[in-house]
Amino acid sequence: MRTKIVAGNWKMNNDKKESKKLIKDLKKAIKKEKLKNTRVIVAPTFVNLSASLKAADGSAIEVVAQNMHQAKNGAYTGEISADMLKAIGIKTVILGHSERRTYFNETDASLAAKVDAILENDLETIFCFGELLEDRKSENHFAVVESQISNALFHLGADAWKSIILAYEPVWAIGTGETASAEQAQEMHAFIRSIVAKKYNQEVADAVSILYGGSVKPANAEEIFSKPDVDGGLIGGAALNVDDFTGIIKAI
Ligand code: 13P
Repeated sequence: MRTKIVAGNWKMNNDKKESKKLIKDLKKAIKKEKLKNTRVIVAPTFVNLSASLKAADGSAIEVVAQNMHQAKNGAYTGEISADMLKAIGIKTVILGHSERRTYFNETDASLAAKVDAILENDLETIFCFGELLEDRKSENHFAVVESQISNALFHLGADAWKSIILAYEPVWAIGTGETASAEQAQEMHAFIRSIVAKKYNQEVADAVSILYGGSVKPANAEEIFSKPDVDGGLIGGAALNVDDFTGIIKAI
């Protein structure tokens, strides 16, 4: 059985105090929930990772990073390495978010290098990708997603896929209030699983968790999560509110 995952990407939100409070509130809220086979993840900003790890201590909440540099160390002003993250207890890193691709020029090639660094360091990644609105309008969305995945991940051996979580985030649905329909999400997730099966084998494809991200809210989460190839969500805005995020966790 694939692991179900609800992950909150806090982006550049929540200072130290707010991060600690949100985790403490979430801890209380999910105590009553049966989280069998479901991982609950939050991704605070770098400066608040240590405080967040401490706040989450002893709970089921996992704290992950939003990004990482591929080099071991060196003259990369403003960047953070795998060693630095591991030293404070981080085990998982989000990579390839569309905001990183758009505003910080991350490319398939730089992401492939980051994924290699993840694996060399025994970390896990939540690897994000997704098409632009113009890609969908021109019916190029499958080709775009296939190239994003194959360029950044298909050089890996089958074994590496144990450390990969995929997150399909159509860019037109991020922060816009416009969600992909459950059918659109399922169609793309099934396609993604099929290309992984074709490149590797059915076992690898069946084992990889594929999350959907883009305007997931408590009101639409249940329908999206009910689809067979949707294994959970990567949540932005709604992850900043304890009631909304708990509502989404309950929907899984
Ligand atoms: P929203 O849920 O705010 O649309 O953001 C999704 C996202 O980008 C998660 O990484």
